[in-house]
Amino acid sequence: MSLGINTVYDLLYYFPRRYEDRTNIYTIEKLKFGETQAVRAKVVGLKYRNSWQRRAFNITEVLFQDKTGRLSCVWFNQPYIKSYLVPGIEVVLCGRVEIYAGKIQMNNPEFEIIKDALDEELGIGRLVPVYKLPQGFSQRMMRRLVKFSLDNYISQISDCLPYDIRKRRRLFNLAQSLIGIHFPLNIELQKEAHRRLSFEEFFLFQLPLVLLKRRKKEKKGVAHKVDAERLNEFLGGLGFALTKSQAAALEEIKRDMSSPFPMQRLLQGDVGSGKTVVAVAAAVIAAHGGYQAAFMAPTEILTRQHYETIKRQVEESKARIRVAHLSGSLTSLKKEGIKKNIRNGRIDIVVGTHALLQEEVAFKNLGVVIIDEQHKFGVSQRMAIARKSVNPDLLIMTATPIPRTLAITLYGNLDISVISELPPGRPKVKTIWFVKNEASKAYSLAKDEILLGRQVFIVYPVIEESFALDISGAKKMYEDLKSQEFKDFNVGLIHGKLGQEEQNEIMLKFKEGKLDVLVSTTILEVGIDIPNATCIIVEHAERFGLSQLHQLRGRIGRGKFDSLCVLISDAETKEAKARILAMVRHSSGFKIAEEDLKIRGPGEFFGREQHGLSELKLANPLTQMQLLKIAREEAIKVISADPLLSQRPNILLKERIMQKFPQYSKMDITA
Ligand code: ADP
Ligand code: MG
Repeated sequence: MSLGINTVYDLLYYFPRRYEDRTNIYTIEKLKFGETQAVRAKVVGLKYRNSWQRRAFNITEVLFQDKTGRLSCVWFNQPYIKSYLVPGIEVVLCGRVEIYAGKIQMNNPEFEIIKDALDEELGIGRLVPVYKLPQGFSQRMMRRLVKFSLDNYISQISDCLPYDIRKRRRLFNLAQSLIGIHFPLNIELQKEAHRRLSFEEFFLFQLPLVLLKRRKKEKKGVAHKVDAERLNEFLGGLGFALTKSQAAALEEIKRDMSSPFPMQRLLQGDVGSGKTVVAVAAAVIAAHGGYQAAFMAPTEILTRQHYETIKRQVEESKARIRVAHLSGSLTSLKKEGIKKNIRNGRIDIVVGTHALLQEEVAFKNLGVVIIDEQHKFGVSQRMAIARKSVNPDLLIMTATPIPRTLAITLYGNLDISVISELPPGRPKVKTIWFVKNEASKAYSLAKDEILLGRQVFIVYPVIEESFALDISGAKKMYEDLKSQEFKDFNVGLIHGKLGQEEQNEIMLKFKEGKLDVLVSTTILEVGIDIPNATCIIVEHAERFGLSQLHQLRGRIGRGKFDSLCVLISDAETKEAKARILAMVRHSSGFKIAEEDLKIRGPGEFFGREQHGLSELKLANPLTQMQLLKIAREEAIKVISADPLLSQRPNILLKERIMQKFPQYSKMDITA
């Protein structure tokens, strides 16, 4: 079978997508018009015809009867139906009842053949499970198979949830829940089954995270000494005062860094809230004490920008801190030189992409690892850092702020700091939606900005930057804009297919104001900080995700000037419209993330595989926050009582985790 069903166990954990309510089966006489109902009847006749108007169009009409009357059902373009519904066959039909040409009729109803007592038991007078079907299966076959497995194997599957927990939290046992989720006798039992199985998912998800956190705390880390005077000197040189929440986050970081246990902290804050400087302060603290800091970001452009900012900030602060950029565009000779200096401890802060982890970079004295824009980093990369050196402190920044409970689900091994405000005096950013044939209006607004001395981004969606074909759209658009709308201005193009050198050059030209307009692909998405850019136009905005749009909008409104974000789109689907409207209505990243989560659901929002969220089949962190909280509490309880999960009631748990999350179990349970 496909769909990942290989064992009886998989099958029993393959849950229905929904239920069809066949508690009430009506007689034909009792059917109400305009409502969807179920009826049980026998086939008495069948007519099949091709439409004479259109050749590829056919109609199957079947006449049914029960002891109270007759009902006609019509199926369009489903010719195979005639081989099932031969006279004498008994079925359950489910559909909307209408009157058509004086006859009672259902169009395209769901139907199911009733052949024996088991069909009656599973398909009539109850909530009937509806599954996503493996190839070649019908609902009826699937149901019978699940029922067979339940009847014959359920006693052989042990419940992995310890009895204690089940009792304390009033949770169904496994048998009750599996029966209740597949063949609930009523909706209350289904709900209880759902609750128990959701709990199980949350709980198994939390255990390895809690374990990871605990393991970290057991290991010895670096106890940094915070040199308050020199830190203040650094902060004093910035030219602005930290906001309240920046200062609070820094306090938490200082506390973590000076403790002998390794810091594991997530720094959340909206685009532009000033996370970088807080992280730089952490690097500076390490450097003051003679430790090294690794500062990583997902793109080369971003690392360059961070490098320049950091260099400027630490140079202004008199401290003799040495900063290096291990850029992908360096010659290998230069790279080797920098690596050697890192090894010797002659460099204090090194900035680079996650290649810093993969390449052979040996640190003399790595004290803190900082990762910017965490949503680009998966679990495996986080693991790589954990293995990298003795036990550096870890600070992860993310601009995709999410509700706290959800953050705990996903990053349950991390402590969380939130920067909840933007620095004062931020300009207003207005967002407008234009349809495609209003594009020239957008361009003229952009030109107004340029005439005021400002700069403009125009973003074109490119899904896969490594394909030349996909770039061509952006290129063509650039050529057109350059020769027509913006022919009086300086226009540049940047995309991921260009070499690092070339990208740097173009970015630099834009930064220096030598370009008025920068046409770009999504490589602009994260982090870019150019205060003079006040307008961003996003073409085909419907092709971007909501978080992506918000990130893009974060490229403007970074200086003193009010800014404008124009989304150009002929969005047609409901979802695409919802995304664009959310952008027009909300400016806060927290609000946007909330909307995005609603639109896409947590799995898609975070990239399922990356976070193991695909393991949550029933459980939804958004709608079951309380249950999640309980599951986490219980996970903490279990782990603190039995850190190796080696006691009798927990052995099954350990097994389940090893199966479900091999990436965690490898390092943490067996360690
Ligand atoms: P993000 O959180 O998106 O990474 P950045 O760290 O890039 O934001 O900060 C955005 C801009 O705000 C930068 O130019 C930074 O120098 C500036 N900034 C940061 N903190 C403050 C502050 N407290 N007051 C004024 N400007 C600040
Ligand atoms: Mg940033």
